[in-house]
Amino acid sequence: MIKKIKASTLLSNVQGGDNNIFGFKYNMNLYRGCQHGCIYCDSRSSCYRIENFSDILIKENAIELLDRELKSKRIIGTIGTGSMNDPYMPVEREVGLTRKALEVINKYGFPVHIITKSNLVLRDLDILKKINNKYAAVSITITTTDDNLSLTIEPGAPKSSIRFETIKSLSNEGIYTGITLMPVLPYITDSEINIREMVLRAKEAGAKYIMPCFGVTLRDVQRDYYYIELIKKFPGLREKYLSNYENSYFCPIPEYKKISYLFNELCSKHGISTKMDFYNDNKQEQLSFDI
Ligand code: SF4
Repeated sequence: MIKKIKASTLLSNVQGGDNNIFGFKYNMNLYRGCQHGCIYCDSRSSCYRIENFSDILIKENAIELLDRELKSKRIIGTIGTGSMNDPYMPVEREVGLTRKALEVINKYGFPVHIITKSNLVLRDLDILKKINNKYAAVSITITTTDDNLSLTIEPGAPKSSIRFETIKSLSNEGIYTGITLMPVLPYITDSEINIREMVLRAKEAGAKYIMPCFGVTLRDVQRDYYYIELIKKFPGLREKYLSNYENSYFCPIPEYKKISYLFNELCSKHGISTKMDFYNDNKQEQLSFDI
């Protein structure tokens, strides 16, 4: 079901400011719910109070709110494009909230960091190039180099090869881009071969960084959903998770040390950073009052 709602506010301040791993100062969720349907998605956790995650709620007044809120901001900082949905999930093709939000962000001169699994981001290259005068980064999330496996664990998102091509296009257009390799799923995407191919294909595509998380977080409703999907798609794996992790929130991959060491070695060999560069304004820029 897709339905429209009215929101009371849009931008949230991100704790840790520009020191958080994605460099966000502000974050905005233009939608609630996500059509990509990744089996491990943390947004199903009960703390987010999303009743049915496959229902898509469109914040119909989001652009008006964004305009008003940015107009009153006195500190410039990187805006993130959502944490509980993908800003370029299929519905964005018709609704265009992300595109309109980028136009407002450009109008007020704010930097942006987009995280997505979709090649639809390429539609907005024209605006991204304008924002890039300040700072525009696009992180493409890729968890496996195997197209079939990506469609199994991220059924509503474009397959991995399309995501690598997206990085190539962004990189060729001068947009700062890289990979969020998150999560690395124990016993599913944590093989040495996946990590080796990931780094090589990132290099070929022109990715400037790969930011990994060698494990997955699991809690309450989200864990229940994940385990149901494991039973359907990976017979026997739920039992392995239960015996290894019980009720742990963070479930690291079994060969954490070995794989993270290998990853760091490969990235260093191929000149790929394992962190991203953030918008740097030498502290924080004060907006002039005539904006
Ligand atoms: S794309 Fe992100 S928000 Fe959407 S289902 Fe996947 S993990 Fe969740």
